[in-house]
Amino acid sequence: MRYSKLLIPTLREDPSEAEIVSHRLMLRAGLIRKVSAGIYNFLPLGLRVLSRVEKIVREEMDHAGAQEVLLPALQPAELWQETGRWKQYGKELMRLKDRHDREFCLGPTHEEVITDLVRREVKSYRQLPLNLYQIQTKFRDEIRPRFGLMRGREFIMKDAYSFDAEPEGAKESYRKMYDAYHKIFNRLGLQFRAVEADTGLIGGTSSHEFMVLAQTGEEGIASCTKCDYAANVERAELKGEGQPAAGEVHPLEKVQTPGKKSVEEVAAFLQVTSQQLVKTLLFTADSRPVAILVRGDHQVNEIKVKRLLGVSELFLAEAKQVEAWTGGPSGFSGPVGLKNVEVVADLSVETMSEGIVGANERDAHYLHAVAGRDYQVGRFADVRNAVAGDLCPRCGAPMKIDRGIEVGHVFMLGTKYSETMKATFLDAKGEERFFVMGCYGIGVSRIMAAAIEQNHDEKGIVWPMPIAPFAVHIIPVQDQSERVMITAELIYSSLVRAGIEVFLEDRSERAGVKFNDADLLGAPYQLTIGEKNLKEGFVEIKHRRTGEKQKVEVDKVIDDLIALLLGPRPSPSA
Ligand code: ATP
Ligand code: MG
Repeated sequence: MRYSKLLIPTLREDPSEAEIVSHRLMLRAGLIRKVSAGIYNFLPLGLRVLSRVEKIVREEMDHAGAQEVLLPALQPAELWQETGRWKQYGKELMRLKDRHDREFCLGPTHEEVITDLVRREVKSYRQLPLNLYQIQTKFRDEIRPRFGLMRGREFIMKDAYSFDAEPEGAKESYRKMYDAYHKIFNRLGLQFRAVEADTGLIGGTSSHEFMVLAQTGEEGIASCTKCDYAANVERAELKGEGQPAAGEVHPLEKVQTPGKKSVEEVAAFLQVTSQQLVKTLLFTADSRPVAILVRGDHQVNEIKVKRLLGVSELFLAEAKQVEAWTGGPSGFSGPVGLKNVEVVADLSVETMSEGIVGANERDAHYLHAVAGRDYQVGRFADVRNAVAGDLCPRCGAPMKIDRGIEVGHVFMLGTKYSETMKATFLDAKGEERFFVMGCYGIGVSRIMAAAIEQNHDEKGIVWPMPIAPFAVHIIPVQDQSERVMITAELIYSSLVRAGIEVFLEDRSERAGVKFNDADLLGAPYQLTIGEKNLKEGFVEIKHRRTGEKQKVEVDKVIDDLIALLLGPRPSPSA
């Protein structure tokens, strides 16, 4: 490919709309352009990267025995009403009506459509196991589309669905996908980790997320410093250390805290640490009031609370409700004297001998509040996110927290969808049974962003070879020199013939501009052809990642690059 023929609208300046590096570099390198919030055009270079990701995903899915299909993006409401998700999915579902006023949605995921297909077409246990996948555009009306391709409203996903006769078989299908995902992310050249995850809106019994490790990741990963336990901070199970040793007890004491509402404000005002505070958050849980107590420096985990209470809806209570339930304004809520509200406290609150709590009164807090003495706790349970230093639920060693970007998710669904949609097959005895299902997603377009988050420097993108739009970027420095241009063309056509993805810088630009753009675009190798070196019979290869430069004899460079790039080729599976 020639630079002059491709639409690569690079930008010199950082676009102001981009908050994270991958978004910035994707815009600057001319890979994508925004159409509307969370909706993007893929330009030629961006599409090349995307195709490479898709190719690896396809090869490994096929190798694992999955079959590719293509399901519609436009889906009738009836299917979603069958599973109850027409309501449950809420505003994230993009809904529309056809000319007859029938309701449809643009698929955010395809459990309903695939279960409908399989219940019609698969009748016998002999046709199982079955795993069907597709690579397709998904639609989700995210509350906050952001970070470019990272959280789009229209994005590309690979989704696979497995159907088995027995739970044992379903576990095997799950394991195959789990293994295939490891191969995929290894082949993509990404540093990643599989972690235990929550099952969210899709539901089901067990699940793992695949996280690309990156500082800017939206997800927190708690991992053990000793054993191989790793989980999303939302999922990591935390154990309590029981009640505190009996120590000095102080009487409850009310203090004035004028205008101090947040943990930070109160702690600073009273000159204590946030660990000495107990914060009280009031929720509406399926329309009943619940107070959740966590230590001042901890975060309530709504997923754990929901699971604990067995409710499907949990909302932070509005100011008016808080006043009605506690008698005080929001910001000053606490458990002392609270009536008709269920109180759940985190296990770490149980280990505190006393705490500072809101007094349910404007501008006031209590010091030395003791659970059991000054207020009652309905139950102590694990209701918060893990933090660094929490103990591993498997081996008890301290855990650390890393940031990650979720690029894949595997779920054991069980019979959740087959039961609600009455999807059955006949087993060997001729009895009707529900399919046991699994579903498996990969954020194909998000991977492009995640790869850049992990692979860049101050000059631009540093593509991992497997997904680089080009392996070699040829830069003839003096484009007015015939000798330079003939050599560049010769090397270019030889490498193309050998099947290497080459990019020829054929614009008449200053050398500095060419070098900067080459660094920005991020091909793993740059081949510089300059008059001076050429006179001595050399060209120069630069390794984009290390910046290392190497002079190579011009007569040998073609063979060298072919050997380097086509040497041992990665096969679909190791
Ligand atoms: P998140 O928690 O990030 O919203 P999710 O749990 O909703 O993700 P899944 O339903 O498991 O995501 O979708 C499978 C994969 O699709 C995710 O692992 C992620 O890589 C990708 N994905 C999900 N939502 C988006 C989005 N809005 N934009 C781009 N990729 C997405
Ligand atoms: Mg989501």
